[in-house]
Amino acid sequence: RKITYANAAFTEITGYTESEILGKKCSILQGTESDPNVVQLIKEALDQLKPIVTEIINYKKDGTKFWNLLYISPVFDHSGKLIQFVGVQNDITKKKEQELELIQAKEKAEEANRIKSEFIANMSHELRTPLNAVIGYSDLLLKSNLSDVQKLQLQTIYESSDFLLHLINDILDFSKIDARKLKLDETIFDLVELVDEIFVMIKASASEKKNDLIKEIRENLPKYIKTDRLRLKQVLVNLLNNAVKFTDSGKIILKLESESIAESSTSCKIKFSIIDNGIGIDTKDFQRIFTAFTQVDSSNVRKFGGSGLGLTISNSILEMMNSKIDVESELNKGSRFYFSILVQTPSQILNETKLLETLVETEQEFPKEILDKVLIVEDNKVNLKLAKAMMTKIVPEIKIVEAENGLEAIEKYKQEKPKLILMDIQMPIMDGIQSTIEIRKLEREEKYKVTIVAITAGTKDETQENCMKAGINEFLTKPIIKDDLKKIINKKFTQIEANNQT
Ligand code: ADP
Repeated sequence: RKITYANAAFTEITGYTESEILGKKCSILQGTESDPNVVQLIKEALDQLKPIVTEIINYKKDGTKFWNLLYISPVFDHSGKLIQFVGVQNDITKKKEQELELIQAKEKAEEANRIKSEFIANMSHELRTPLNAVIGYSDLLLKSNLSDVQKLQLQTIYESSDFLLHLINDILDFSKIDARKLKLDETIFDLVELVDEIFVMIKASASEKKNDLIKEIRENLPKYIKTDRLRLKQVLVNLLNNAVKFTDSGKIILKLESESIAESSTSCKIKFSIIDNGIGIDTKDFQRIFTAFTQVDSSNVRKFGGSGLGLTISNSILEMMNSKIDVESELNKGSRFYFSILVQTPSQILNETKLLETLVETEQEFPKEILDKVLIVEDNKVNLKLAKAMMTKIVPEIKIVEAENGLEAIEKYKQEKPKLILMDIQMPIMDGIQSTIEIRKLEREEKYKVTIVAITAGTKDETQENCMKAGINEFLTKPIIKDDLKKIINKKFTQIEANNQT
């Protein structure tokens, strides 16, 4: 299609004079960077006698590029016969450049934000390592013979470092969510047991503020559910801690009810409500409290403490479970935070879980006939000492074999044949995962199976997955607490005993 007319605006934009352009094809404006798809679209529209609006890179007479916002429409005569096409050109290069700058700026900002989140995640991770030793040792020391004053001082160290750990964990979670690195890990567990566990955690602070802690569990609730236990616990602990924090001499209720049971009855919607009769929140602040780092009253920070991250993190976790927190509250009357999650309720695994439970409950002494030798694989000297001290507390007569890295662990395993291995995951020379894989290979020729407990920093979900694939039986997250270690040993070795007896 040839050009039959060009106005002054056209010659100004393109640089061609009217006489130069008349009789030429429109494609004279196209060049190497003109998008072939757009060219094709224009062709099709013209062939079908349809109007078209599009943006395309065109070239002026002197070869410079410009962005052309192009309108083309067919013009028909009375009988509907095509007379010609009319095209209107607009040089939108400036606008396009601004758009491009905006996109680049946005990408840059996103990249910077990602780097920041990653930095915070790494930093928080590093901060946890020295805290391990502080918390682990104060925990051990607290159980030794101390004067009352020493006990009080040590208790303060323990509580402060525990508080610090919570804060770091919050920041770590927040940056993980920000960098979209948080994943859910679904397991089957006993819901009532979880509630009891949470109440044990909250009890002390609740009674300190003279608050009654009440659980209301509706009868139609399933006993076992499948969801991310740790994350659900985190949300509930968060909301309950808030309730305790903002209530004095009051009542705090955790209410669990099942909202609906799907036809298949393999899933169920559970509503969790956390109700307090504390200071309450003004309606105008409802939005703000869910924003990161914000609290209703900035003077609250001193009075109540906290990072302002709790609700943000809880909501992000719930978002992954397709839910969110709602709030009803009245100033000086109290608050009610609630959310519902859809969980699976698998029945076939019940028996197995129950059996395990009863075994865990039976507290056992550990004579060395049951557990005579442990191999501790740990490159950090302080952590090694700590793990040794804990093991000796749990099984006083146990023989402890040490290894500094995964490779050494394999050698020691061959020589000593321990029943239990505490395996650090991040180590030089050979990491805990590789070492476990090798040990499991060697083991195929042996009759017994060694229990391998991974000591993880607990920050990377993929690590846990790899650990499980490698053949690790249990996990302990740093900082290791003696009772957790004991629980695992209890579970593992009571089980072995039980199996041997049958
Ligand atoms: P933090 O508790 O660390 O400050 P949150 O995100 O958990 O952070 O809570 C944000 C704010 O919401 C709190 O500082 C407080 O002002 C308000 N808030 C949360 N829960 C309650 C509650 N149960 N009663 C009164 N105010 C609350």
